[in-house]
Amino acid sequence: MQMQSYVAGEWQDNGKVIGQAHCALDGSVMAELIGHDLNGGEILDYARNHGGPALRALTYLQRADLLKQIAAVLSENKERYAELSAKNNGATAMDTFLDVEGGIGTMKYYASLGKRLGERRWMTEGELEQLTKDENFRAVHVLTPIRGVAVHINAFNFPAWGMLGKLSVSLLSGVPTVVKPAAATLPVAWAMAQDIVAAGILPKGAFSFLAGGGRDLTNYLTSEDALAFTGSADTAGMLAAHPRIISQSVRFNAEADSINSSVMGPDLSPESDGFKSFIHEVSKEMTIKSGQKCTAVRRIFVPAAHLEAAQAALIAKLSKNVLGNPADEGVTYGPLVSASQKQAAVDGVAALSSETEVVFEGAMGGDADGFYFTQKLLLCREPLKAKTVHETEVFGPVATLMPYESEEQLFELVRRGGGSLVSSVFTNDDSFMVEALQQLGSTHGRLLFVDDSISRGHSGHGNVMPMCIHGGPGRAGGGQELGGLRGLNFYHARTAVQTNLTRATALQQG
Ligand code: NAP
Repeated sequence: MQMQSYVAGEWQDNGKVIGQAHCALDGSVMAELIGHDLNGGEILDYARNHGGPALRALTYLQRADLLKQIAAVLSENKERYAELSAKNNGATAMDTFLDVEGGIGTMKYYASLGKRLGERRWMTEGELEQLTKDENFRAVHVLTPIRGVAVHINAFNFPAWGMLGKLSVSLLSGVPTVVKPAAATLPVAWAMAQDIVAAGILPKGAFSFLAGGGRDLTNYLTSEDALAFTGSADTAGMLAAHPRIISQSVRFNAEADSINSSVMGPDLSPESDGFKSFIHEVSKEMTIKSGQKCTAVRRIFVPAAHLEAAQAALIAKLSKNVLGNPADEGVTYGPLVSASQKQAAVDGVAALSSETEVVFEGAMGGDADGFYFTQKLLLCREPLKAKTVHETEVFGPVATLMPYESEEQLFELVRRGGGSLVSSVFTNDDSFMVEALQQLGSTHGRLLFVDDSISRGHSGHGNVMPMCIHGGPGRAGGGQELGGLRGLNFYHARTAVQTNLTRATALQQG
């Protein structure tokens, strides 16, 4: 299979192989990435000059309809994406569901939000303001789409969801988009891009797709463009410090590493239902997508008195997991996506070894040439003295169990993650919940508080729901995406419009 870029309104192919994607199950080459001869400036200019005006001419309702049509096309072809995902990502059916159906579902959700925005071309924020004694003189804050390009640089772990979630928001906003997925897991994103282009739903220039490369795009960004990055903290830092991003004040959103946590509240005993929910969620989170989820639980905090019980319960659950080719009967989790990711996981566990001990390791499975990496439960007995365990994200089925002695100590330990996407706190104690919110809110993009009443009804520690913002402060990149209409703000400029009452009212009504 050869995968090309769709840029400047054409599928490009200069015949040069610039990269490869592998089958995670056996390490074989699955696809080649083919180069093109355009530079980043030419790619952005085409999108800016063709896609921009065409999308801005439409209302939110019309753009919502485009999203609806794309989601329908992708739904029809989801079996093909699942086949590619199974090989390239070594994904289980559930892993693929989260990625492919999760992505399509997010697009449908934004289509429904756009329908509610209706026949408008701008949004407003807040109430009309009176500025002077003259009641006829008012201000209204108006959000108009930026007139540049949205550049999306995506991580390898969610080739479908990562692309569709961001794309839904930028297209609904009316901003042409250049998508640059990660090379290692290009096949699913590429197959979707092919179907999107072939369906002819979007105006020319509204959607561009890069099969590899894209390193020079940042050099051509302007103040009206927006760069949304998901990936490692190193790349995020490099892009954030790019002279062009700084000199042009380019909108920049980063979703990077995150040392997430799950907490067994001090009120729970090992006999309680809350404890069972906690153990169930943590063990599930460790192996969904083989731990290659930015929201996966990396640190597990339990009251010191219940450390042994929690360790035993987690090991009992994890022992039921089976590593191997997800197509084989009984297999519950698959390999990592690439040889380099496998090496990074090996290195990550080695980095943690001075502060942790391995208390459980799953059995090896799968083809020896595949990128298999067994689940590991680590234990850090003295988390207050530890450093690496609060700062190192092992992007695989690995988490570290840690005891806490007091609430104060717990909050201090959780905060050592340095800013996280999510923490899930299992407690039936309302006052502990309120205290945890105040202690942890500023360092978390999302807090999931599970009590017995929602133990079966909650959406899960790791699932990113498009209604809620996704992102986290500090180490997690400092960005925010999705969150219903909040996500559209990134692709709109906010202008305070001062005018008479009639005009301000008309603007507010759209
Ligand atoms: P990465 O190496 O930083 O790559 C991410 C993306 O950036 C890829 O598309 C990559 O392209 C591209 N890239 C790399 N160097 C670039 C450069 N100089 N200019 C422009 N683009 C460049 O990260 P990764 O290893 O794929 O992703 C794993 C990390 O992502 C994990 O640490 C995980 O925590 C994080 N993540 C975070 C979230 C979140 O929402 N917070 C979600 C998912 C993943 P190539 O593939 O072509 O090299």
